[in-house]
Amino acid sequence: MTTKASTKQKKTDDLKESILASEEKRNYTSERFDLLEKQVKKALKQQDTDTALRDMTTWALILGCSDVHYDMYHDHIMVRFRIDGILVDIFSLTLGEYKLILERLKYASNLKLNISNIPQDWKYSLKIEDKNIDVRVSTLPIKYGENIVCRILDTSKVMIDFEKLGFFWTSERMLNKAISKKNGMILVTGPTGSGKTTTLYTILTKLNTRDKKLITLEDPIEYEVEWLIQSEIDESKKYDFPTGLKALLRQDPDIMMVGEIRDSETLETATTASLTGHLVLSTLHTKSAAETLDRLMNMGLKPYMMASALDTIIAQRLVRRICPHCKREKQKTESEQSLIGAMVEETGMNKMLVKNMKLYEWAGCKHCNHSGYLGRIGLYEIISLNENLREAIREWATADEILKQARKTDMIPMQEDGILKAIKGYTTIEEVLRVL
Ligand SMILES: [Zn+2]
Repeated sequence: MTTKASTKQKKTDDLKESILASEEKRNYTSERFDLLEKQVKKALKQQDTDTALRDMTTWALILGCSDVHYDMYHDHIMVRFRIDGILVDIFSLTLGEYKLILERLKYASNLKLNISNIPQDWKYSLKIEDKNIDVRVSTLPIKYGENIVCRILDTSKVMIDFEKLGFFWTSERMLNKAISKKNGMILVTGPTGSGKTTTLYTILTKLNTRDKKLITLEDPIEYEVEWLIQSEIDESKKYDFPTGLKALLRQDPDIMMVGEIRDSETLETATTASLTGHLVLSTLHTKSAAETLDRLMNMGLKPYMMASALDTIIAQRLVRRICPHCKREKQKTESEQSLIGAMVEETGMNKMLVKNMKLYEWAGCKHCNHSGYLGRIGLYEIISLNENLREAIREWATADEILKQARKTDMIPMQEDGILKAIKGYTTIEEVLRVL
């Protein structure tokens, strides 16, 4: 098909590629990494593994690290931190040093010390400066021994508000309206690592009042929340999503969060639940709002059921936030100018909004470990079903047709949200292009 549209698309793709190719990339470097190495090695030398692990976790929190990786190579172990989605080499350990850490981690998280040939996974908690931190430890037998990854779960990270997650005013208003309803289904969609769980927990936090019962069904429970009734899937005991969801309903809930809808049976039960006076929150592993509608139909959900049950779809991605300490304005390059022009045209965005607007770049500083980025922010696309959209779904409209209809309402396409976040200086245009 060599239509005008596909030529246009190719031009947009070429522009994207050239902007990303000319992007300056900087490795994460910091004196703080050296300091951490010194502290950990000093503690290990004194066989004080408790302090070594505490130092590691404290610094992981300071540096905004979500996962600590102990990657084992034949003669050394590389400690790597995932910071804002990017894996960063921090320092290396000798086999002897690693053995001490491995044993301590297995002991702390109740894993079997004498077993190294099968994967194990459990967690432990520790208190750091009044914060309760859960660490999920998972081991993997590899050629040279055992690899370990520790996920750091900092509950304070999810108890935040929509604005901090990056929902602009219009989106926030749509979300608040959706969660104020007594029934209906709210789906958060996106690939792995797009921040779906954080959004769900933030919604749950908003909904938490003593006059309602909130229950979750998760695989696994990511954040342990005091006021929440949480149930964890255990496939080995045949406790799966379809069984669990039915059991949840017998607990007289008002609001339910189902970790993920993977099968038709769960989808059917969740739909029925939302039609019978429950607010149901869940996630789907789809890339966009349009793909979500297609997936639901392919999973056997009848259009009339979907039209009545579904309330809101939130499609999302995460981009790195530009470092506020070293960011600066810059003029748009010619390619950036043309690409943004094309995207504005495609989304039907108000041209005046982006005209003459500047973009941002970074210099690199100690706060962002010289990477230019600090923390992350979401890009969102929200569809809130109104009567016109419900009618279109009932009449078996295609996902594209529904999307076209949605754009006539207050839906903000993700490209538009991304451009706005780049021109408002929340992130760089490169970060936005990478995830779209
Ligand atoms: Zn900086």
